[in-house]
Amino acid sequence: MSFSQLGLSTPLRNAAQQQGFTQPTPVQSEVIPSILAGKDVLASAQTGSGKTAAYCLPVLEWHLQRKATTRKTVHTLILVPTRELAVQVGDTLRTLSKSFTHYPKLAVLFGGISINPQMLHLRGGADIVVATPGRLLDLVQQNALRLDQVERLVLDEADRMLALGFAEELNAVLKLLPAQRQHCFFSATFSDSIRELAHTLLRDAVKVNI
Ligand code: AMP
Repeated sequence: MSFSQLGLSTPLRNAAQQQGFTQPTPVQSEVIPSILAGKDVLASAQTGSGKTAAYCLPVLEWHLQRKATTRKTVHTLILVPTRELAVQVGDTLRTLSKSFTHYPKLAVLFGGISINPQMLHLRGGADIVVATPGRLLDLVQQNALRLDQVERLVLDEADRMLALGFAEELNAVLKLLPAQRQHCFFSATFSDSIRELAHTLLRDAVKVNI
């Protein structure tokens, strides 16, 4: 399969090409068309499988389709368990969108550093937020951002998220999101708790490699 068969528009196909991605990885071939179709996705994906681009490409495609809006509202929330992954996902989004004329405003939010620069950065709003759950909740509590316009929730490394004890924070974040939303869940392993979470939240999910 080629990137042109996945339903991505020219700017995203060019972005993939500029990264030297000649053809999609298996997880990308399977999940990108489903995410673009607005379906819930539950994917088994290890680090190194190309999972980050598998959700970043469709998220950026959605962004381009939204066109410029006057007020920036968070349309996609990407939750990750660690600061390292947050930075990596932010870098991927930035790299893939660098040739856009209407590039997204990104916010990459994680704990362990001062909250003030993050609050300042959020003043003009954000289109796409990549965050660890605890710091995200702190920022919502400080009224630095709102999640009531989120259309899409990506949960990456869901198994690590639960293993690191983020279940409570994750549930608190879920309560802040609109009921109507798309879910894209990625996990390297599928424990009972991940299956239960998926069963509770996902609707008619496309299951990949499970
Ligand atoms: P990930 O599994 O998201 O951590 O990605 C692992 C590595 O694969 C990253 O360095 C990506 O830049 C690279 N990558 C992602 N998609 C492709 C692709 N379609 N072709 C070649 N490399 C890729």
